[in-house]
Amino acid sequence: MNLSLYDLVWFDGSFVPIEQATVPITTHTLHYGTSVFEGVRAYWNGSNLNLFRLDDHVKRFRRSGAYYDMSLNYTDEQIIQAIVGICQKNNVKESCYVRPFYFVGDHGISMHVTTDAPTKMAVFAFPFGDLFDKAGISVIISTWLKSSDASTPIQAKMGGNYLNSIISTGQAKSMGADEAILLDASDNVCEAPGENVFVVSGGELFTPPTSLVLDGITRNTVFEFAKHMNIKVTEKYIHKSEFMDSDEIFLAGTAAEIVPVTSVNSKLIGDGKPGPLTMTILKQYRETVMGNVPQYVDSWLTPVY
Ligand code: PMP
Repeated sequence: MNLSLYDLVWFDGSFVPIEQATVPITTHTLHYGTSVFEGVRAYWNGSNLNLFRLDDHVKRFRRSGAYYDMSLNYTDEQIIQAIVGICQKNNVKESCYVRPFYFVGDHGISMHVTTDAPTKMAVFAFPFGDLFDKAGISVIISTWLKSSDASTPIQAKMGGNYLNSIISTGQAKSMGADEAILLDASDNVCEAPGENVFVVSGGELFTPPTSLVLDGITRNTVFEFAKHMNIKVTEKYIHKSEFMDSDEIFLAGTAAEIVPVTSVNSKLIGDGKPGPLTMTILKQYRETVMGNVPQYVDSWLTPVY
């Protein structure tokens, strides 16, 4: 996928043309994956551009690096200004994706990262529509297991953790499927490479607990919707066979938004069409990000202009 980035990026405190945001080959993160990233979406609703749940993304951005004693040299307010500023400086008037990240810079070959290790931060953005077909996608159950929290903290959105996502995505695509689902060592469903998973069974929602998966912001958004719609949501271990037998399945993530899963390992879920509860959540998501649901506007939307 070639991204057509907006010209100006934010690099360690200044807005510069993308060509000027470069790093030396000795940069630590290139060798060891010592980076933290977030993905934030902004939605253009015809009159303004609104960043969705920006404060929550910034909180997780800081928390992720703290697991590894990585310094983040900017306050939350400065990070918010960088993200809002990227949209303003590029005069963005369409829905887009913003990628803030920070990483260990020149730190030799040492694996001893402390708060004294130098870090750099950057933000870039690009126009973004649907990541997946909202009419429904196919998934396969990956033979690669989800990295366990016993090895590295799974709540940290670190570059290095995403090798697990990359290898399972590769497997899914090579098998002709749209996306992978990763299990733990006991065949419990965890999540997709970049999305949380929900199943619908008997009119209720179920999703794996955060001991197994990233505490996704879209996942939390689904929890809030369900609460207001009086739909029960339960966090629980979901075994592979239970997963394959559910009435509906959908994925939830910033890039993917809400996406119906209509087959698992080529077996149709339900009647092979997006289910009614999935569509209700997807519709509510769309309305919310567009600013059409008053109760979420102040708490979840940050206007750019
Ligand atoms: N799980 C993983 C592994 C992810 O990378 C993401 C994307 N950040 C998610 C779940 C969904 O999280 P969010 O809704 O916060 O984007």
